[in-house]
Amino acid sequence: MKIKITVDDIDIRDWSERRISNSRVYVFFNDTTCTIPFCRAVKDMREQVVPKVLKYMGLPAKTSVAWNAYAGCQCGCSPGFIIKDNAGIEAKEVFVDVRIVK
Ligand SMILES: [Zn+2]
Repeated sequence: MKIKITVDDIDIRDWSERRISNSRVYVFFNDTTCTIPFCRAVKDMREQVVPKVLKYMGLPAKTSVAWNAYAGCQCGCSPGFIIKDNAGIEAKEVFVDVRIVK
């Protein structure tokens, strides 16, 4: 089943002390009743959320982006997308608020 996702807010944080080599994108569902596990929404997030984030960051639409269950933390609490090609910009952490459209 296709999940329809709308992006509410994109927030780029530049935490230089994190020393990450590639930008990370974390997606947060604002709808607290959403019980869809991330693993089931990855395809829909890739189609409906990632293009908006890339555009917001000024990166090319065809930039390679990979889902990683451990994008932000080794314990798995912060899954997200890792942008494979920073296109010369400094790595950033991007926080995206989304909502499921019912
Ligand atoms: Zn963690």
